[in-house]
Parts: sequence; C-alpha cells; structure tokens
Amino acid sequence: MTGAPLVLIDHDRGVVGDDTRQALAFARACFPDLPIAAVVIGREQTEPIAGADTTFHIRHTALVDYAPEAWGDALHELAVAQSPGAIVATGTERGNEVLAHVAAIADQPFASNVIEAVAGASGTPWQIRRLRWGGSLLEDATLDATLPIMSCALHVFPNEISGGPPNADTPVVEFVPTLGPDAGRTRIVDRVRVAEGITLTTAPVVVSGGRGVGSEEGFAAIEALAELLGAAVGCSRVVTNQGWRPHADQVGQTGKRVAPDLYIACGISGAIQHWVGMQAAKNVLAINTDPDAPMVTKADYAVIGDLHEIVPAIVAEIRRRRT
Ligand SMILES: Cc1cc2nc3c(=O)[nH]c(=O)nc-3n(C[C@H](O)[C@H](O)[C@H](O)COP(=O)(O)OP(=O)(O)OC[C@H]3O[C@@H](n4cnc5c(N)ncnc54)[C@H](O)[C@@H]3O)c2cc1C
Repeated sequence: MTGAPLVLIDHDRGVVGDDTRQALAFARACFPDLPIAAVVIGREQTEPIAGADTTFHIRHTALVDYAPEAWGDALHELAVAQSPGAIVATGTERGNEVLAHVAAIADQPFASNVIEAVAGASGTPWQIRRLRWGGSLLEDATLDATLPIMSCALHVFPNEISGGPPNADTPVVEFVPTLGPDAGRTRIVDRVRVAEGITLTTAPVVVSGGRGVGSEEGFAAIEALAELLGAAVGCSRVVTNQGWRPHADQVGQTGKRVAPDLYIACGISGAIQHWVGMQAAKNVLAINTDPDAPMVTKADYAVIGDLHEIVPAIVAEIRRRRT
C-alpha cells in the first residue's frame, strides 16, 4: 500500500524558510487523496508542521547541523520504513541536494524543479512538467520510478496551504536512523557571514539597475533610493559584464532569484534571462525610456523617462516628505 508522501522541511538550525513549505502544497496537488507527512531532520525537538497530517522528526547525533549525505541517508531510511508514495522537497539548494542523495542511495531517478506532476495508472510513469534553463524552458517529461523523488520549482506553489489540519492536532513521530559510515563525510564545520544586513534574496524591496544606468558611478542614485527604502541593490548581467557591480548583485538565470514585495527595474529591458530571476516579485515598477521594453509592458507600474532624472527626483521627494 502507498504511504503518505514524505515532504522534506529543510531548515537552517531550526529556522524554516517560507520557501520550504511550498513543497507541502506541491505534495497536496500530487496526492489530493492521501495524508501528507512532513519530515524535519535534526533539531532537539520540533513542533508539528502546519498543513501536514503527520510530522516525522528524525534525530541522530550526526544530524545536529546540516550534512547533506547524512540527511539523504536518514530520509532514505525513513522512506524504507514508511513506503511513501513519493519523496518531495522545495527546490531550494538544500532540498535539491538532499533529494539527489536520497535518489542516489535508492537508485531512483530524481526530477527537480517540477511544476506539475500527475501519477500514471498503476505501474505506468508519472507525467511531469518542469522548469529548465533557469525558467526559460518548460519541459514535459515522464518519470518512470518505483519511488518518485521530486522537488518543486521555487515560488510556483504557495508558502501556506489552506485546508490542512490544525497545527496542534497533528502528531510528531520520532524516528532514529542508523546511518551508514559515510553519512558524516560532508557537514558544516564553520560559518562565515559574507553579507551583513539586508540581502538581495531576502530584501522586501529590490532596486535594480541595467545598462541604462550607464556606469558604475550611475549606481549612486540607485543606492541612495535603496537606502531610503531599506532595499537591496540588484542589477542585470550587462552591468556585471561591464564591471559596474559584482556578480553577487546580478539577478536572473545566471544570477540570483529574488521574490521581493517590490522590484524596481531601472534601465533594464526585461530579457527573459533577467525576468526569470525576478518574476516572483509581487509588484514590479519599471523606469525606462522605452515604453515598449518587455520590462515596461509586463510591469505593474511604469514610469517612462530618463532614470537619471526620475530616480534622483524620487529620492528628493522621499527625503522632502521625511523632513
Ligand atoms: C545564457 C544566458 C544567461 C543570461 N543570464 C542573465 C542573467 O542572469 N541576468 C540578466 O540580467 N541577464 C542575463 N542574460 C543577458 C540577457 O539576455 C540580457 O542581455 C540582459 O538582461 C540585458 O540587460 P539590460 O536590460 O541591462 O540591458 P539592455 O537589454 O541593453 O536594456 C537596457 C534598457 O535600458 C533602457 N534605458 C537606456 N537608457 C535609459 C535611461 N537613461 N533611463 C531609463 N531607461 C534607459 C533601454 O530602453 C533598455 O530597455 C543572459 C543571457 C544568456 C544568453
């Protein structure tokens, strides 16, 4: 009999990112008639995960901090014990890394960045659709596996699922794996913070500049606006290619994925490779001289004009209102 699908809830020292809960909604979409089991690995103790019918808590001394092989090994052991209908996670770095280890141990295929998955009739492959090439390509594929292992693409499913069981009513089931001798080969031994304060991927507002900014110095106005808004500064690839900003600031297919409440795109045309990096933004404001630029036509709000006039004008107006 097929057991409840296992949903990995990845976390960093107990802090569960909102993104990681998207896999719960993905699992419900795949298995509308089955209960859903969340899996929390490590931590001293865990609360029931909201939206899941059961929460498995996997504990072991090798699981105190993140260790991808050990997490994969532990999740695989739980799967052997539970015979789940599938193992899923959100396609975060950790989600994909752990599921890749599970798949290797289980000798099963792993499909990452899935946006739709439909189970085949008994014994036939799953039909899946997934994002490829940084989101610029949709791929329809079949997944022929005795144990489907899938991550869902980030920001496709909601963080919160409606209709799940109330938090306090769901059980937490302890599971202690044995773990193989190699499980602890890769583990965190130290952490060095490379960015203080607001980061591009967590900032509620991102002010981003493209070729239209014109120079490294041109970013002074972008930075001033970002500071006033408590925002992070982002940029397009043209900007990093020109050496105006570091690659760490680049948004897009070959840069960072951001999902702020507001993304302000200054002098960015909106090429698909940039768009895939910020398409999860809740609101987009484009500042551009070209009313037909894709960024302008797709944006929620647009100001048509020269950013070298508009951005300083916004900065001056905000300062005026705050004094
Ligand atoms: C494999 C691959 C991966 C890629 N990965 C990425 C990626 O991760 N991120 C990324 O950004 N790109 C990426 N690209 C590049 C992408 O295709 C575009 O070339 C790039 O995004 C364009 O950057 P841009 O919008 O700054 O420049 P442009 O396309 O040149 O657009 C500049 C915009 O500025 C406007 N403008 C000019 N002057 C002003 C002004 N004074 N005031 C207001 N507006 C003005 C123009 O109207 C125009 O819309 C990738 C490309 C490939 C092939």
